[in-house]
Amino acid sequence: MKIADLYVRVSTDEQADKGYSQRNQEEVLKRYCLVNDIKVRQVIYEDHSAKTFDRPEWQRLLTDLKGRRKGKVDLILFTKWDRFSRNAGDAYFMINILRGLNIEPQAIEQPLDLEIPENKMMLAIYLAAPEVENDRRALNIFHGIRRATKEGRYLKKAPTGYINRSTVTGKKYIAPKEPEASLVIESFEKVAEGTFNTEKIYTEMFKKGLSLTKSSFWRMLRDKHYIGKIFVPAYKDEESHFVEGQHEALISERLFNSVQDILDGRGRKNKVKIVSKEQLPLRGFLECPNCGRGLTGSPSKSKTGKYYYYYHCKSPCRCRFRADLVNEKLIEMLNQFSIKEERLKYFQKELIEILNSKLNDRGNEKKSLLEKIENESNKLKKARQLLLNDKIDSDDFKEIKKEVSNSIDRLELQLASVREKPKRNIKEMIKSCLRVISNLGDLYAKSGLEDKQRLLSSTFSEKLVFEKNNYRTPKVNKMISLIYLIDRGLYIKKNGTKSQNEDLCRQVELIRENSNHLGDDIRLLAGI
Ligand SMILES: [Zn+2]
Repeated sequence: MKIADLYVRVSTDEQADKGYSQRNQEEVLKRYCLVNDIKVRQVIYEDHSAKTFDRPEWQRLLTDLKGRRKGKVDLILFTKWDRFSRNAGDAYFMINILRGLNIEPQAIEQPLDLEIPENKMMLAIYLAAPEVENDRRALNIFHGIRRATKEGRYLKKAPTGYINRSTVTGKKYIAPKEPEASLVIESFEKVAEGTFNTEKIYTEMFKKGLSLTKSSFWRMLRDKHYIGKIFVPAYKDEESHFVEGQHEALISERLFNSVQDILDGRGRKNKVKIVSKEQLPLRGFLECPNCGRGLTGSPSKSKTGKYYYYYHCKSPCRCRFRADLVNEKLIEMLNQFSIKEERLKYFQKELIEILNSKLNDRGNEKKSLLEKIENESNKLKKARQLLLNDKIDSDDFKEIKKEVSNSIDRLELQLASVREKPKRNIKEMIKSCLRVISNLGDLYAKSGLEDKQRLLSSTFSEKLVFEKNNYRTPKVNKMISLIYLIDRGLYIKKNGTKSQNEDLCRQVELIRENSNHLGDDIRLLAGI
């Protein structure tokens, strides 16, 4: 009676049903021994790759076999050759070692008489087959990923501000993740503003909780995933390109482009250096009325030894203004934008209502999408019940399942694009924004240099031009200009309406029309 050791190996990619594979191999081998009247000495379980023979259990077995007197074990049995090895050269080498010990390795499901030289070819095929299969699988996965990428799906680890999710049917996608998403948006906005350099913005955002290294922050600012695009790398004849992604964009393409301009040094005309002195808070915010270049500022010493500060153009233009005059006139101008106290409450109420109703719309949309998903899942449950009761056949069931998972997919994508509620309290945001607007001049006058410059860059959307002792009418933040215009009834008078009710209606409508940008403007102003 021959004596055999049974070698059971579970490969790493079988982890999921490892237990089954192990039991199955063992069972098959034991049955074979029973039928062929072979005595089983021991079963060896290996949980290691077959790339080399450097596997713990195999090495132990080999030492054991070498230490024994010849003839004790006749066979080493395994189910298939790929359980023994994945490499032809190694396999022959090991077969020879075993032969030297008078032991015959054999795959019971792929029996080979290795005395016959031609059978070595067969062995090579048995050994290589799993590898070929693996490569084929990897290639299929590669093409699968590429196809999905081209369809606009993001499959890799989500970039900062997003989170990897998958639908109930297992399709992967990315969705915005708070608070990072808001911080990413804020970073882009700050860079585009051009008031502070990117280093400084990085430090600030890092403190706020955007945990990125400096270099990944720079990469983030160049990353088109934030405008909803997906990168398709070059492959064979196809050049790399971008496609429209299925995920939600965090920022607009316009914002992205202006950030690129700043990073590339094209958008520097709004750039302000933070070296300005207290006496020259407007340095970097003024444009020369004659030549359109940015004004700089510097002190100049008079004959009496006193310093006077000037904003001035570079030579040869020679345009220059006394700084104290320009500073003073600015406060005057800012004061013009202030709103009457009693009107504040009214605006506050309206703005809160409008923004809340926007958020409620989103909440309702989310709720109804979740309900729809639930309904679809129930459909599937019902179908399964019908299938179990033989009311429908499996083809029908498959058809229903396909339909249901398609519509769930669609719904999940829609759900992902409904943005979450902002964490910050709307009421507080609007209050602090209105506080800013209601007394811009005073607030500015009381602020330190850095806050002054922040306030300027969120109030005005372009540089200021000073000439003949006063400012040209500047372009201001939409929120401020809207409230300013409404407050003075400029919009209403145009239509000649007088009635108080109609008056209010129109104003509300006007705010509603502009409410898409309003959120951003409020956030900007409230941040001061
Ligand atoms: Zn000039």
